[in-house]
Amino acid sequence: MSLSPLPLPRRQFASDNYSGICPEAWEALCQANQGHAPGYGDDAWTARAADLLRELFEIDCEVFFTFNGTAANSLALATLCQSYHSIVCHEMAHVETDECGAPEFFSNGTKVLTVGGAEGRIDPAQVSRAVLKRSDIHFPKPRVLSVTQATELGTVYAVEELRNLSEAARRHDLKIHMDGARFANAIATLGVSPKEVTWRVGVDVLCFGGTKNGMPVGEAVVFFRRDLAAEFAWRCKQAGQLASKMRFLAAPWVGLLQTGAWLRHASHANQMAARLTARLRQIPGIQFLSTPQVNSVFLELPPAIIEALRQHGWKFYTFIGQGGIRLMCSWDTTADDVDALADDLTRLLSPAPA
Ligand SMILES: *Cc1c(COP(=O)(O)O)cnc(C)c1O
Repeated sequence: MSLSPLPLPRRQFASDNYSGICPEAWEALCQANQGHAPGYGDDAWTARAADLLRELFEIDCEVFFTFNGTAANSLALATLCQSYHSIVCHEMAHVETDECGAPEFFSNGTKVLTVGGAEGRIDPAQVSRAVLKRSDIHFPKPRVLSVTQATELGTVYAVEELRNLSEAARRHDLKIHMDGARFANAIATLGVSPKEVTWRVGVDVLCFGGTKNGMPVGEAVVFFRRDLAAEFAWRCKQAGQLASKMRFLAAPWVGLLQTGAWLRHASHANQMAARLTARLRQIPGIQFLSTPQVNSVFLELPPAIIEALRQHGWKFYTFIGQGGIRLMCSWDTTADDVDALADDLTRLLSPAPA
């Protein structure tokens, strides 16, 4: 079979979802593509993937697979809430800024309440303030604390910081949801076992990202308390998230978890961001918008430089404030890619010869 070729694009720093499928996921997909298997998750690949997640988290959790993170987050949140509840999250949280109101939609109106905190991390004192501000019947009752690990600003919560948040949540009777679109990157940085930053610190449900870690598509919704997962399967089906050929959502998880590639790829992406950071630190006057801890780097740049970088063919997002850009590394970013970008930035930011 030969298809007419499309141009081979260069690797970019716009998002980790620009990357392709990693070899381990590809191999698992090929193996899953032999013969027939039952649909809707009643197959051996789905069972194996769920078992591998139970092994990884060292607990008998309940696992579901969805197509994307927006669905995972919003369905998990909807299942924890009634329509008269509210969800407390950081003002930069994906559930607030990048899901088109899906958490409110799937929960039939649960309100999202935002709080602040430095470098994308929720400040526990602000959680208390938001919850205690009103307790009367006229205000939606706070029900869930939603925490993103790693955060939207490329930082991570240390175990101790999660413990503090968890204490605040417990004090106010909030469940804890974790948006782990880049959970693997956070684990690679923290060097702790996954349980240390999830159920051990009171996380009730984790949305574990697969797409940005090298899968073609898919996230795992992991309920550490099985009672909270009751009827979640129906919620997924109604939302159009029950894959008919589920084995193709599940097989990449088997490929990545069985080989340890999930952590290897995340570490690699983090290391590439660290290399980029080191290169950029050598440019006088360059301003970082947050401390890079995972696979992203946030920079303040003059609009003319941003434009010039685009002229050089680089793609990236500029959604954080005026002048800020996000540079994101992926499982397949190479040192040469990083150096090419850093070389261009260095040249653009060097003072013109007198
Ligand atoms: C990418 C991402 C998601 C998931 O987004 P989808 O495009 O719906 O898969 C969720 N949370 C965060 C923080 C993300 O970066």
